[in-house]
Amino acid sequence: MSHALVVDDSRAMRAILSKQLKSLGFDVLEAEHGEQALERIASAPSMPVLALVDWNMPRMNGIEFIKAVRNRRDLDKMRLMMVTTETELSQVKTALEAGANEYMMKPFTPDALLSKLNTMGLP
Ligand SMILES: [Mg+2]
Repeated sequence: MSHALVVDDSRAMRAILSKQLKSLGFDVLEAEHGEQALERIASAPSMPVLALVDWNMPRMNGIEFIKAVRNRRDLDKMRLMMVTTETELSQVKTALEAGANEYMMKPFTPDALLSKLNTMGLP
């Protein structure tokens, strides 16, 4: 089964995203911030094919996490999508330049999430 990672400091948001990913057949791992996400990746049975990443989080934020993943050659197949309340075009650009494949603004509909996943060749 493909693993997906949900990285968000909001428990409620993790629950929403995890539920939808599980309904699409993903085995979901959750983390509260970037540091914990890197730990989850290290202990995962296989590389997560996807990470949904919040921007604003304690310890290591979403941009820092995306840069950390993109600095690792062994994770270069991992799709990264920023999922955030940040709506400025300059922020979208910052996320994409850091290495995010896609960007989705909160709030979002299940259809919007599915459509973004499809754009990345998932599920
Ligand atoms: Mg947050």
